[in-house]
Amino acid sequence: MIDRDIVVVGAGPVGLTAALAVRATGRPVTVVEAGAADRIRPGSRAIFLHKVTLEVLERIRPGLGWALVERGLTWRTKRTFFRGREVFRRTYGAAPPGMLPAATSLPQVVTEAVLLDACHDARVDFVWNYDVTAAQPSAEGVRLQPSHGAPLTAQYVIGADGARSAVRESAGLELEGPRTSSAFVIVDTAEDPADPLPVERVFHYEHPNVGFRNVLFVPFAGHWRVDLQCHPGDDPEAYSSDAGVRDWLACVMPEKYAGRVTWVSTYIFRQAIANRFADATARILLAGEAAHVFAPFGARGLNSGVADAFVAVRAIDRALRDGTAAARAAVEEFATARGAAAERNRAASSKALRHLEAASAARRVVRHAAALVAPSLPAVGSWMDRAPYGPPLGDADRDGMYY
Ligand SMILES: Cc1cc2nc3c(=O)[nH]c(=O)nc-3n(C[C@H](O)[C@H](O)[C@H](O)COP(=O)(O)OP(=O)(O)OC[C@H]3O[C@@H](n4cnc5c(N)ncnc54)[C@H](O)[C@@H]3O)c2cc1C
Repeated sequence: MIDRDIVVVGAGPVGLTAALAVRATGRPVTVVEAGAADRIRPGSRAIFLHKVTLEVLERIRPGLGWALVERGLTWRTKRTFFRGREVFRRTYGAAPPGMLPAATSLPQVVTEAVLLDACHDARVDFVWNYDVTAAQPSAEGVRLQPSHGAPLTAQYVIGADGARSAVRESAGLELEGPRTSSAFVIVDTAEDPADPLPVERVFHYEHPNVGFRNVLFVPFAGHWRVDLQCHPGDDPEAYSSDAGVRDWLACVMPEKYAGRVTWVSTYIFRQAIANRFADATARILLAGEAAHVFAPFGARGLNSGVADAFVAVRAIDRALRDGTAAARAAVEEFATARGAAAERNRAASSKALRHLEAASAARRVVRHAAALVAPSLPAVGSWMDRAPYGPPLGDADRDGMYY
């Protein structure tokens, strides 16, 4: 006997989005989450939500995209420097009234708080402290086994339990893909509201004040994100210790920001995708980091996780409506479409990473030559500005998704 139609595992941003998408179909949904209801999520992570993601959230729940825009910051000026010399600068106009902006930047914990509030308003059922250790699929549904407490059963399960997904593992699915070699030190530092810096996204190729390492500055609500790309052979720990951060940050920002740091982490990113996005019984669907992990250049992780959640719920809705014969086809379509989207996203973030690493002499020469001509050839300046984030968005796929 199956208890529920749909259970979502994981109350991260993707699981919460999936739950809201289910409620938008009028069906009940339960989210099970290993953490407690009052948990404080560690780290800072995603700060950049693209317009297309805000639009998907608006489709799921009118007002939700706008609620994120109200809490976020929209920066409209982009600047790029090469060895301290500006090679590109552009300020874009504001979106017309009533139109969503091109993007909004805010801490991931704030995004999650907005999504969680929306879930409560939409009467999503939550089971906190429910650490799933196994998801056992059968032809009728899925049995979720927690480390403590009673098992739950559902016709369909969305595994949104993050990169170490227990759901993925027990469904026999695997993340496949390389770890990148470059290390990055990522620092968030609080804006000084009494004396704010200009609201500009600034990228420095080979910043002369930090041994010609690349440095990216992104403003987001109340803060600055600063990414330092280590040289091969650097010890990332030396750049992420309290003293290390103080030393290099004070070389690239006004000194007071070294005393306003709220979060530091070092990363070597993985570019991995699940070998399939649904299990063999077509009862378990993966979404978000349970299905893919990307380096964050181009901000494709959370953004594409929202698209996964939306398409997964549409497939389950079809499966529940149309009955057994069509159900498998609906889930297979989801798995194929989102697997292909993940491949596109990985290719885009890999391209950005290759550009940033400039590991070959040929790439370094191209970058250097481009910097020389960029001030007089705007198209080249624009390429130098765009390249660290990967290729621009292509057309929407047949599900209407861009990521
Ligand atoms: C430095 C950095 C910067 C980033 N910047 C961006 C950006 O600007 N834009 C962007 O789009 N992406 C960005 N990302 C990626 C983004 O943070 C992730 O894609 C996003 O957090 C994935 O969300 P998720 O809900 O899939 O997984 P998670 O956020 O990991 O949430 C998973 C949830 O599942 C729960 N869970 C785990 N195991 C179990 C279990 N066994 N049982 C029950 N519950 C469980 C966890 O407690 C958690 O609540 C960035 C990442 C990093 C590291």
